[in-house]
Amino acid sequence: MRWKGRAQSGNVEDRRGLSGGKVAAGGGIGVLVVVALVWLLGGDPSQVIDSLQTTGGQYATGDSTAIKAEAELAEFASVVLKDTEDIWRAIFREMGQTYREPTLVLFSGAAESACGYSSSATGPFYCPGDEKVYIDLSFLDDLQRKLGAVGDFAMAYIIAHEVGHHVQKQLGISDQLQSLRGRVSETEYNKKLVRLELQADFFAGIWAHYAQKTKGILEEGDVDEAVNAAAAVGDDRIQMQSQGYVVPDAFTHGTSEQRKSWFLKGFRSGDLNQGDTFSSAE
Ligand SMILES: [Zn+2]
Repeated sequence: MRWKGRAQSGNVEDRRGLSGGKVAAGGGIGVLVVVALVWLLGGDPSQVIDSLQTTGGQYATGDSTAIKAEAELAEFASVVLKDTEDIWRAIFREMGQTYREPTLVLFSGAAESACGYSSSATGPFYCPGDEKVYIDLSFLDDLQRKLGAVGDFAMAYIIAHEVGHHVQKQLGISDQLQSLRGRVSETEYNKKLVRLELQADFFAGIWAHYAQKTKGILEEGDVDEAVNAAAAVGDDRIQMQSQGYVVPDAFTHGTSEQRKSWFLKGFRSGDLNQGDTFSSAE
């Protein structure tokens, strides 16, 4: 994905390293994560490993390579967020509405949100209560190592999916669903939640469609990366976790096949009207 040097969003809240101490000085995420991220972003991890060896296996204050890797990652996330802002602003304008930009919170370890307390084990999530997307960068390390999804566009897809939940909130779709809670059986409600997740994948596909059309961001293999990421985080691959009304992103996402298919539908059509995952028989 082409992202270097492109405009960044002003809506990133960087909470990494807020826990204090030595690790925080280096930026707040673990060594393995840094190595994985350098690799994900097309850098040379051996440079990081070399610099780690000289500091006894722990990167310390002033380790410029590790800090640079993190800064690069934060920049990447910010560029992707900016793309989603530009694209959804235009789509909302066409519908005669004004898009409210969400905030992206980068955190390490755990985060406090209007949806409660979440650890990194939750995975990335969107909190409708404060309209913020929360991402612990170590999730991306998991994505690559445990689930086998690699590449920068995979990461962009994850961000675009979370922003998709924000779009659902603004369109009133998630509120409608929430109003059914307790009024329909749990099984029925969970089925609807899966549809909500698949629609966020569809919205990520819409984003990719217009990002390509207006900015030409895609490189060879990028769509495969996104589709692999979609497949890797299907609920048949990740253990279910309930988080109340945090739109729960390690929970009921539909099968890998369904996720791929809805992402591709959004990507190929670019047509919002084709995204009614709720009435679809699939
Ligand atoms: Zn989701």
